[in-house]
Amino acid sequence: MTGHHACRACRGQDGQIVLDLGNQPACDYFPTYDDPGPDPVYPLQMWLCSQCGLAQLLEDPTVPEEPKGAEPAALVAQAADAVGRVAAAGLLPPGARVAEYGSPHGGSWLGLLAGRGLKPVFASGGAEEWSHLWAASEEEADVIVDCLGLMHEADQQAAIAERAARLAPGGVLLIQFHSIAAIVRLGQWNALRHGHYAYYSATALSAMLAAVGLTPRSAWHFDLYGGTVLLAAQRVGEAQRDAEGHAADETIRDLLAAEEAAGVTTPAAYVALQQDVQARADALRGWLAGLKESGTPVLGYSAASRAIALLRVAGVDADLLPAVADASPAKLCTRMPGTAIPVISPAEMIAQAPREVALFVSDLMAEVRAAYPQVEAAGGHWVDADVLR
Ligand SMILES: [Zn+2]
Repeated sequence: MTGHHACRACRGQDGQIVLDLGNQPACDYFPTYDDPGPDPVYPLQMWLCSQCGLAQLLEDPTVPEEPKGAEPAALVAQAADAVGRVAAAGLLPPGARVAEYGSPHGGSWLGLLAGRGLKPVFASGGAEEWSHLWAASEEEADVIVDCLGLMHEADQQAAIAERAARLAPGGVLLIQFHSIAAIVRLGQWNALRHGHYAYYSATALSAMLAAVGLTPRSAWHFDLYGGTVLLAAQRVGEAQRDAEGHAADETIRDLLAAEEAAGVTTPAAYVALQQDVQARADALRGWLAGLKESGTPVLGYSAASRAIALLRVAGVDADLLPAVADASPAKLCTRMPGTAIPVISPAEMIAQAPREVALFVSDLMAEVRAAYPQVEAAGGHWVDADVLR
């Protein structure tokens, strides 16, 4: 399928939709329970550019998500690990001017970098404020950090050009991203979200960097989100070269080779991802229909965006899933967007003594079993909604 979309990075017009989650509500849109709807929904589709290989949102008419204050603990721990590894490679010299493009997901590195003797370009206020002041200024920096920020930019070409333009001579640009190779390998189709415009491979990112005169030097892997990559880039003419003339070290060469083997810039690699979406959705619907038939009480747990995507693809509504519990007070008295399913408190879930609870965020299994022992004490089972076990 070839559309009229121009690539967000290279402006190429040839490409293919490789993942289609149908019509989905905007991220974090939670209507109140008495809001009759219909809720606005928008196509949620991943498009793969044939020219540069960047996987991206096809279109996104939604408003970008607002910055959030909360920093997930996993992100904080990973930041410390990452800063330590980049420093060990000699890329964080004390005294270097550092600036950061922030992410709505939190996880600023500026405090850690200041602790290592680097100098934030703006040194007043907290890390969040530094990021905002930097974004509004035209200052250069020797070290520019972009931790999960770039994917939030609708115009990828303009965003990478701006980062390159603000890199001082001899400087290093550090870009961290959730790897599309991990998304494909692990079947993480729910990573596709409105507001997340690009899903990078080192291959596609290298092409973006080359277009603005930068070249990848080194990469580090992290387990965050199942596969996160931190890539360091420098200006082509400034990057040190080894005896064979390579600017990129073997970490980059290995990464590019692995991506080529996995085929992440070709549509064939995404077929299983799309099949997995439908298979999981069909299985969930079938399971819930079976419970309804046998009169078995069931509830869901977690109103995360991945739960919404799965319920929408499965066409599951309140007739099959009467409520979803969530610990966030902000989501009480709301509905799961695009459905009539109310969001209830954990206390209400316990009071209903469900026989089955479909957990939509499987990483939370140990946590919810410990937090709500009453569910199992009353004879209920927690079931991973992804695998229905
Ligand atoms: Zn492209």
